[in-house]
Amino acid sequence: MPKRFNWQLGREMEYPFDAPAPERQVAYVFDTNKCIECQTCTVACKTCWTSGKGQETVFWNNVETKPFGGYPLAWDMKLMEMTPPAKWDRTGLRTPTVFELDGEKKPPRGHRPDVDDYSAPNLGEDDITGAVNLGEHFSGVHPLWMFYLARICNHCDHPACLASCPRKAIYKRSEDGIVLVDQERCRGYQECIRACPYKKVFFNLISRVSEKCIGCYPRVEAGEVALCVESCIGKIRLHGFLTSAGDPRPDNPLDYIVKIRRLALPLLPQAGTGPNVYYIPPVHVPGEFLEQLFGPGVESSRRLYRNLKDDRRLLGALMLFGATDRIITRFEVRDDLALGWDVDGEEVARVPFTEPTYVRSHWDDRFGAYRHNTT
Ligand code: SF4
Ligand code: SF4
Ligand code: SF4
Repeated sequence: MPKRFNWQLGREMEYPFDAPAPERQVAYVFDTNKCIECQTCTVACKTCWTSGKGQETVFWNNVETKPFGGYPLAWDMKLMEMTPPAKWDRTGLRTPTVFELDGEKKPPRGHRPDVDDYSAPNLGEDDITGAVNLGEHFSGVHPLWMFYLARICNHCDHPACLASCPRKAIYKRSEDGIVLVDQERCRGYQECIRACPYKKVFFNLISRVSEKCIGCYPRVEAGEVALCVESCIGKIRLHGFLTSAGDPRPDNPLDYIVKIRRLALPLLPQAGTGPNVYYIPPVHVPGEFLEQLFGPGVESSRRLYRNLKDDRRLLGALMLFGATDRIITRFEVRDDLALGWDVDGEEVARVPFTEPTYVRSHWDDRFGAYRHNTT
């Protein structure tokens, strides 16, 4: 089996498909500390891309409550049941990935959810880890916890969906690394659905072919962020490109947050697919739980996050979340401003560290009305 270097694992791994890395890789950072599970992202994607027949249970974007929520049902627990617990040391992952568990001749290890597993997208929503007893109140530390995990296709570096397709109907674009299903070639064998550790390929029961997040590629080609990113109420998302050939660039906000500072971490990196949605872990959740989900960088990421107020450059990069509909390819922190430029070199974001305060006069002559300053 061909070998590939997986930078998230710190080692080479076996991967049953050979193709050059894309020129640049589409990537996203999601800050879990800011998500309010309003599902605006889910609705934006659904109404735009998957409102047709057979797509009733297709959610390319979904937001689930951890630890009990998951869509399709228990996708992550089933993955953990069929793979050994991840073991990391200082050099990287020591346990086998889904490509290495069953040997060269076998497809990546995985499971195909039942149709019923797609029937309740929000099961477990807002469930916390224990019961709130009479008289309990907030005392500075949360003894009970849960958090929201927004999920889309990871447009992986080493996609399991692509590697498992007997028809070669899935491909990864060389210009931006977006992973797509060619629906003309697909014959509905559903091997991709079984193989994807994140269960982000869906089967359309009417058209009988597979479908998945298209990475909003028409928008990306026009230099615009994805719909689920633009519509995010909590401004938890940043969409851009990671440099795939050569060293990460400190002036690229994605390179800076993910590869240089390592504030944002991949989801279940031990699967080995090299996912490209990177999460800033929640600061209030027990570390042992998070290390299963995001790997061994959790504590150092949380230290960085807690220290953000003294880390102007990193804070400046985070201030660009939700600041523009354009994809930011270069950023800078100058005086009291975080600035961003798009691929055409146009300045598209200018965010002050300190918002100016405006106090309006109590009486408005133009409208003949009294005004109140409430914020
Ligand atoms: S729109 Fe943003 S804040 Fe709302 S659920 Fe989606 S990711 Fe979370
Ligand atoms: S998340 Fe799943 S569907 Fe998306 S590229 Fe990775 S393996 Fe394929
Ligand atoms: S990138 Fe586009 S297609 Fe994919 S989940 Fe977001 S809105 Fe949907």
